[in-house]
Amino acid sequence: MQKNIAILGSTGSIGTQTLDIIARHPHRYRATVLAAGSRVDDLIAQALKFKPRLAIIAREDLYPKLKAALQPAGIATATGPRAMAEAVEADDVDMVVTATVGYSGLEPTVAAIKANKDIALANKETMVVAGSLITRLLGASRSKIYPVDSEHSAIYQCLKGEDPATVRRLIITASGGPFRTWSAQQIAKATAADALKHPNWSMGAKITIDSATMVNKAFEIIEARWLFGIDPDKITAMVHPQSIVHSMVEFTDGALKAQLGVPDMTLPIAYALGEASRHQDVADFCSLLVHNCLTFEEPDARRFPGITLASTALQRGGNAACAINAANEVAVAAFLRDRIGFNDIYRTIITTLDRTPLVAEPAYEDFVETNSEARAIADELVDRIASKHSL
Ligand code: MG
Repeated sequence: MQKNIAILGSTGSIGTQTLDIIARHPHRYRATVLAAGSRVDDLIAQALKFKPRLAIIAREDLYPKLKAALQPAGIATATGPRAMAEAVEADDVDMVVTATVGYSGLEPTVAAIKANKDIALANKETMVVAGSLITRLLGASRSKIYPVDSEHSAIYQCLKGEDPATVRRLIITASGGPFRTWSAQQIAKATAADALKHPNWSMGAKITIDSATMVNKAFEIIEARWLFGIDPDKITAMVHPQSIVHSMVEFTDGALKAQLGVPDMTLPIAYALGEASRHQDVADFCSLLVHNCLTFEEPDARRFPGITLASTALQRGGNAACAINAANEVAVAAFLRDRIGFNDIYRTIITTLDRTPLVAEPAYEDFVETNSEARAIADELVDRIASKHSL
């Protein structure tokens, strides 16, 4: 039977790769909903090719253009803040690929879980922001989450068939980003253009900066904590510059399982679409005679303090990770516009966290409020830093 897929964030890096897989397996998958933020021309082209039932553009000013282009083709269109959340509840959606960037993924993910839809989770910020809430909602739903993040897909594959009680440690690998070999002095002067040169993975701008600061790795530790229900002090990160080992699980008997492959996101995407089953010919085969030098090192928290945000967030608990995520979104956007420096990203996050009131047991509305409170605090901090820069 054909599986009906809703792709939230269809014009981004994960979204377009998901559509490539759907195009190669038309008997297996059909795209019924495509949603994008602001790339309306790309969305129109995708919709005319894949003929979904519904196409959504988040930016309301772009809606007339979308509607005019798709109405003649008989494709329904929508816009507005609730459009994605409403779309995932429809009967012709079996699985939701959450590939939007940042906090925006939370509301539609919650809606999808409540509607018992399976989720291919690419938007890790949802788990970072509200992992406790998502875990609770999943307990009351038939919905299952399949990770798209390459590290979490690797861990999922390593854990398959294993007794959770025998897991000693999850080891999340990290490429180390573009500044792995830079000195602290060089990093302090790094620009957005420098940070956007990721050595191994081709990804969107936001996650590429998160990778350079290692905030991405902190987020992945938090994501793993909730996805796999593992005690945070059993999760560690290891720098592996070649990005061939996608992550590992260490067991109580001394066994270490790893999943390897060339760095290609289509592999974890296809594995999630297939509900943890394998397809034919997805990524190139990985020869260890070619990739014959795999190295590992300890992350350097002195140059990349972003990685310590995982333990900071998990120790404080409650809404702390939500505040961290909001501040990071504001700071990364400012860094991408060259308004603040690279090290200002971490400073903005920590100061915002200290100024955001802690809520120990947040409900959905608390996360909404924390997100806007923390964004306002971070906005002000960023403005102050930017005005000093321009003096
Ligand atoms: Mg990852």
